[in-house]
This record gives sequence, structure tokens and C-alpha cells, in this order.
Amino acid sequence: MLAVPLALAGEPAPDAAPLYAPHRGDDGFVNPWEPFDWSLLRFLRWQLSDNPFDKRRTPVIPRVANDGAGLAGREHSGTVTWVGHATVAVHDDDDVFLTDPHWSERALVPRRVVPPGVPLESVPKDAFAVISHNHYDHLDAGTVERLPDTVAWFVPLGLADWFRERGRERVVELDWWQSATHGRWTITCLPSQHWSRRIEQGVNESLWCAWLVESGERTYFYAGDTGYFPGFAEFGRRFGPIDVALLPIGAYEPRWFMRYQHLNPTDAVQAVADLDARHMVALHWGTFDLTDEPLDLPPRELAEAVAAAGADPERFRVLAIGETWHVPAR
Ligand code: ZN
Ligand code: ZN
Repeated sequence: MLAVPLALAGEPAPDAAPLYAPHRGDDGFVNPWEPFDWSLLRFLRWQLSDNPFDKRRTPVIPRVANDGAGLAGREHSGTVTWVGHATVAVHDDDDVFLTDPHWSERALVPRRVVPPGVPLESVPKDAFAVISHNHYDHLDAGTVERLPDTVAWFVPLGLADWFRERGRERVVELDWWQSATHGRWTITCLPSQHWSRRIEQGVNESLWCAWLVESGERTYFYAGDTGYFPGFAEFGRRFGPIDVALLPIGAYEPRWFMRYQHLNPTDAVQAVADLDARHMVALHWGTFDLTDEPLDLPPRELAEAVAAAGADPERFRVLAIGETWHVPAR
């Protein structure tokens, strides 16, 4: 299965040149618009500092029963089902695609707090999946190996061999601003402001990205993990309006360390405006405890951020794990 380089819609904005600049350096991939000051020292400073949040209370994470039967057959409107953390199953006409599928008990160390929203076995054999980067809460070997080997994978540079080593041959590796077609879908790899590392891959050895997934009728944007950066405005200008923006709202404290790499709810509200997105679905919270803030704080902070921005709350969906949301008609 080959990636087909396609001409993308629209022209780059003149002041957005750093988003299109070369991004492979001597020590791995970089974000040319603002390189990340990743150092073990900064990580240790965070780990050794006091957490100002009280996390003794058990977080309240909504979950609804869903046997996944809705993923089979034909769904004329698009639906989004939250499996947990960054994983959604989008069902659009005859097709299902997954974002960063993760059904396992742990993300390396952190344990899943709420079971996955639908059974992995409900994923159709002809589903496809997009992978944003190699961090353990997004790329899960156990899930990749349990999903049928007929699933097609779209991955950023440096990850195709990882899939082939696991017997997954239907893998398309793309650089930022490259697209591939898959049936009626156009799938485009876009920049994000993040980084990568896992045990078998060094710091920034493989790329990180966001995905634009277009059916021809509906446009879905999946941000992966990212800090707030000028990419959102450029994506909105080139590809907007976007029907559904799947954005992370959790894992953002302390800000001095997380701001670069993770949106907080206020950033997410601004990103929705930049993207010219009709609707947002909130991801990356309530599942794995990764950072200082309590697991159930992000949706409350999102509601405050939406009110502070004077935005329409109907555009911002906070789903329960297992909940299926129907994308409203335009
Ligand atoms: Zn990450
Ligand atoms: Zn993450």
C-alpha cells in the first residue's frame, strides 16, 4: 500500500513558513517554529516538585454501557464514540476509523482508571487508524497486535518499521503536509507541537503529527498531543471549515513544563476558533493519570474557558467514555 502524494488545498500563508520548514535535524526531528527545550533536568524538576493539587479524592469519570454493535453496518451521519483517553472510533457511512487506538490496561506505567468504552472486538476488520506519535498513551503494542491484521495504519515518519516488525504490513508512513488516499478518504499528516520517545526509540527519532481525515462530505481533525502553536490558524485557513475537531484537553499541569507539549482547556477553545471548527470533542482526559491536575478537572476548566471566551457551549462536546455522539448536519 503506497502513500500517494497529493496536492493540498490552498496555498501556505507567507508568515507560516516555519510550519513548512525542514524538520529533521542531526539529533532527530524538531519543531522548526519553536524547538522544545527537553531535558532530563526539567523533567526531574517537575517530578521532584510539590503537586499543588489535592488528588486524594477519587475522580468522577462518566461512562456509559456500549457493546460496540453500532460500529457495524452503515451510519449515514458521522458518529464519534469515545473509547477513552485519545482513542475515538469515528463511524461515517460504511467506514470506521480509530485515533491512537489504546485498549490496554496500562500506558507503560499509568493504569487505566476507566475500562475502554467499547470492546476491541467490535472494531470492523476493514477499519483504518491514524497514529499521532510513539508515546505509550498513544501507541500501544498490545492493541496493535490484538486488532485484525487487515486494519490499515497511517503513521508519521519513523514508525512504519515498528508496525512491520509486528506483522502489520498495511502501513502508510507520511511526513507533515503529505496526504494519502484510502478508498473515498483523503488522509493528511500535519504538524503538531510535541516530541517523541519510547524505550525502543530515542528522543525525537520518530515524528509526531496531527491528522486531517476527509471523507469528501465531512472533515475530521485529530490533534494528537500538542501544545498551542501557529499551526491551528494555518490549518483553519487552508482546510476550514472543519466539521469535527478531536482535541486533547488534559495533561497540562504544571504549565511551566506542559505548556509547550499539551493544550490546556483555554488553549483548546482558542484552537477551535483558529481551526474554524464547527464542533469539538474533548479527548486526553479521564483515563490515564499523567500529570499534576486531577483527572476530572479538564472538563470543568473547559466549561469555564468556553464561558470566558463567550463561545457557544453546544459546539464543545464532553462525552462519557463509551458515549456515541452524532455529528449534527451542517
Ligand atoms: Zn505524547
Ligand atoms: Zn498523550
